[in-house]
Amino acid sequence: MQTALTDLDHLLIDPRRPLVIVDVDEVLARFMLGLERFVGRQGYEMRITRFALFQNIYAVGSTEHVGVEAGLEMFNGFFLDGADDLEPAEGAADALADLSGRAEVVILSNAPGYGREARAGWLKKHGFDYPLVINSGLKGPAAAELASRTSGKLAFVDDLLPNLESVAEAAPAISRFQMVADERLRPFAPCAPDRHPRHDEWPALKAAIEAAILR
Ligand SMILES: [Mg+2]
Repeated sequence: MQTALTDLDHLLIDPRRPLVIVDVDEVLARFMLGLERFVGRQGYEMRITRFALFQNIYAVGSTEHVGVEAGLEMFNGFFLDGADDLEPAEGAADALADLSGRAEVVILSNAPGYGREARAGWLKKHGFDYPLVINSGLKGPAAAELASRTSGKLAFVDDLLPNLESVAEAAPAISRFQMVADERLRPFAPCAPDRHPRHDEWPALKAAIEAAILR
């Protein structure tokens, strides 16, 4: 929480421009794929049968998925040790580069605070050189705070329905979009496309953002 406040305190955005708020994992980064490689090196495999993290991770040959404790250990280990080994979502860097010519871009990620440097380094390396705000918990409050700082229109992109709902509640004027980068996760992702239009590919997502905030 402290970190999120600090990030927002230091953030400067143009108060007259539109603003695009984007998540990282499964929006800019292929998180599931990276985590799969990371756990694979430790004798585990991913069998994606639901929209979850730990419940898709199995010791090779096991019929039981890992428990919360083991899963958390892998998740934390990944952010300490494996978070550089992530591929960007296809088309994301180009889309944001294009949008950033006409709008501010802020990255709002729920990465653990200790993973900040690795995350910031990864973002820069892959062409996402925009301000990073590390958040904790649902994203509505941070999005509402950002919305209070500009007279321009806003868009918010996330893969998780609870974050989209949280933003709808805290700042209903923000246009919300869902994106799930991992093809295998897509069929399992809870969504509400009437409330939060869903576009799992960046070219379509970019067009929808443009239509919502740049016209
Ligand atoms: Mg995400």
